Formats: sequence, structure tokens, C-alpha cells
Amino acid sequence: MQKTNRILDVNHNNRADPVSDLVSIHGGHSGEFCNHAQGSLEDIIKAYVKKGFSWVGITEHMPPVNDNFLYQDEKDAGLDAKKMYRLFARYFLTCRKLQKKYAPLIKIYAGFETETYTGSEQFIQKLINTFRPDYIVGSIHHVNDIPIDYTIDLYEDAAYLLGSIDALYCEYFDRQYEMIKRLKPSVIGHFDLIRIFDQDYRLRLKKDVIQKRIRRNLECIKKFNLILDFNVRSFSKGGSEPYISESILLQALELKIAVVPGDDSHSVETVGLNIEKGIKILKETGFDTKWKNPAT
Ligand SMILES: [Zn+2]
Ligand SMILES: [Zn+2]
Repeated sequence: MQKTNRILDVNHNNRADPVSDLVSIHGGHSGEFCNHAQGSLEDIIKAYVKKGFSWVGITEHMPPVNDNFLYQDEKDAGLDAKKMYRLFARYFLTCRKLQKKYAPLIKIYAGFETETYTGSEQFIQKLINTFRPDYIVGSIHHVNDIPIDYTIDLYEDAAYLLGSIDALYCEYFDRQYEMIKRLKPSVIGHFDLIRIFDQDYRLRLKKDVIQKRIRRNLECIKKFNLILDFNVRSFSKGGSEPYISESILLQALELKIAVVPGDDSHSVETVGLNIEKGIKILKETGFDTKWKNPAT
């Protein structure tokens, strides 16, 4: 630990702003282990070192529970649940090796990002017992087993089956609440991802039925002392602010919940992309930028 601190000091001296370290609590998806990412994990870690990051959480996606949850691009690539499980096992082995190899240069946390759908809970427990991650990012990319951030058509299908976009939000936040209570992940990934294809999200997040669910989930996050991922990947996907949106960010501040930047990188090029922009928002909103790390 002492060693790491000394290296952090070096980074401090090189940076214009000595207060806030560059960190990412959610990222490092690589083409080596994820079909919709690019680049080797080692090259991605080297990019974090080069950019002067103090620490980074590598949080590859968990493999699907079964073939029903393969994404189209994975099917097209000839992958199946079994192959993806083996790939995930290799991911953990590789990540642990790189964690040791780069320890003098950067603190790496080896984790994974979850899915939330039928059968995921037991499977996640099995993955935790088998691979012993440093932490997990609890994410929701499905509602009623339909992917909500993959295509706008699937998003609309998910809303149609529930009757409205409002109902889709409610269901998303209810599933998230269950996930937080049962799994208690150190980090909640892109808390309000459900707004991804919704132009009217700012108003919708404030609707009573939705806002009370958001509040309930935030209070639960506070109770368990978990961290919110401030996910800046939205900027590179055309969004005007990170996940979480400003109205939720202000509530997190009020509740004194730790919010930590995540670049959700999926390639060497997206390592650290827009992270300074995210840090600036957190600073200006009044957050403590002595980032809580995911292993505490
Ligand atoms: Zn991904
Ligand atoms: Zn995600």
C-alpha cells in the first residue's frame, strides 16, 4: 500500500489539479473478453497507466446464464453461454496476472459487472464463489428479460409489454431495488440507465411514481454504504450528462452517498474519455473528490 501511495504522489505532481485523482470505478471492458469491446486488456491497462490514473476497477461483463441471454452480436460471432463462461474464467486469470504485473504503476481492482434477469442471482453467487472478485458492479441491462440498452426497438418492446415508458421506469427501479438489497454490490452501475432512449427523461425522472422509487433505492444504497458509478460513457453516446442525471446527483449529495467517476471504457481509445468532465461536474456539485475505493 505504501508503494502505491508513493506512486500516487508522483502522479499528483504531474497534474494541474493536486486534489482529485484520476480513477475509474467501472471500465476496462476489452475486446479480448467482450464481443462488443476492442483491444487487449493489457493495452487498456497500459493506457490507464499512461494517462496517470491512480486506480482503476476492471469490471468485465459476467457471462450469460444460458444461451437465451446471448446478445445478437455474440450469436453472430458463434459464441454460446459455455464458451463465454470459459472466456470469463480466462478474463479473471488474466486480470489477476496484470494486477500483479502493474502493481508498481497502478492499483487495479479485479471485478465484474452483473446482469439482472431470470436466474442471474444464483449464477452471480456462483461466479463470486468461484472467482472471488475484489468487488462487483451491480447493473441492470434488462427489464422482464428484454435488453433495454441494446437497441431502441428492444427498448420500445420492453415498454410496450408493460404498457408505458413510465411503467418501464417503475419496473426497472423495482428490479434494481431487489438487486441492491439481495446482492449489495459495492458499486451501482449507471443507476438511471433506463433513460437511455427517452428524450423526456428529465421530466419523467421527477414524476411522483418514479421519483419515490429513485429515492427509495438511493436510501437503500446509503444504508448499505454503497457507491454510485458516475458513468461518463453517455457523453460519447450522444448524451448531455453522465448517468446519474443532475436531479438524482443532487439527491445523492443530500444523502451523502459516495459518487465516483467511471469511464465504462470499451477500448484503448475510450480509456479516461470524458473522465475530467465528470470530475468537474462532481466537484462543482459539491462532492468530495477523495474518491471512495470499491474495496472499502
Ligand atoms: Zn459493455
Ligand atoms: Zn453496463
